[in-house]
Amino acid sequence: MPRLGSHRRRLPEILRLLALAYPDAHCELDFQTPFELLVATVLSAQCTDRRVNMVTSRLFPRLTGPKSLVEMGVDRLAEEIRDVGLFRAKARALVSLSEDLIRLHGGQVPADRQALEALAGVGKKTASVVLANAFAIPALAVDTHVFRVSHRLGLASAKSPEKTAAELMEIVPPDDWISFHHQLIAHGRQVCHARSPACATCTLLPLCPDGRRRTASPAVR
Ligand code: SF4
Repeated sequence: MPRLGSHRRRLPEILRLLALAYPDAHCELDFQTPFELLVATVLSAQCTDRRVNMVTSRLFPRLTGPKSLVEMGVDRLAEEIRDVGLFRAKARALVSLSEDLIRLHGGQVPADRQALEALAGVGKKTASVVLANAFAIPALAVDTHVFRVSHRLGLASAKSPEKTAAELMEIVPPDDWISFHHQLIAHGRQVCHARSPACATCTLLPLCPDGRRRTASPAVR
């Protein structure tokens, strides 16, 4: 089987093909404000975006910001979000981070990574999603799809999402981080499925070491 070029050499063509295949890829969580996106992102841990949107379509009309969420309290909020997994822990986390927002930022969501990650329960991935989608600040969140597809494409090899994000940010230009994130998610959902990726019909097959192993396909050099 002919050898594939290095990941740096393959990357521009991978970016081009992803942009062609998914020109409208975007954040699938529904939100109107940075605070709503922060809430939706916390709710989305181990839960589908569709289910989160179902819950937030009922919840958001009752929330005007962090103060109203704190006033709702953990017990009532847990009832409101009980259709997402881990709803009690998420209710506690949302009340804590809303209290932090009021105490530290006058109830506003900060457009700053360090400040976001200092909020209760907010990690690198949540901060990246909020920075990228609420403030259009380049950030590259690694969820299960981004992790799986980037590894199969041979663009990353790290064991953790955080280290994978660092590897990808090393090689992908910052202007492409946001679109690349959404396009990899779209590709993971539509083609590069976890259990049985549709390599035979995948536009990235000639550039993908894992796909070539699965199909013994010739490479683009
Ligand atoms: S060729 Fe297969 S493994 Fe590679 S990106 Fe496409 S679907 Fe995923």
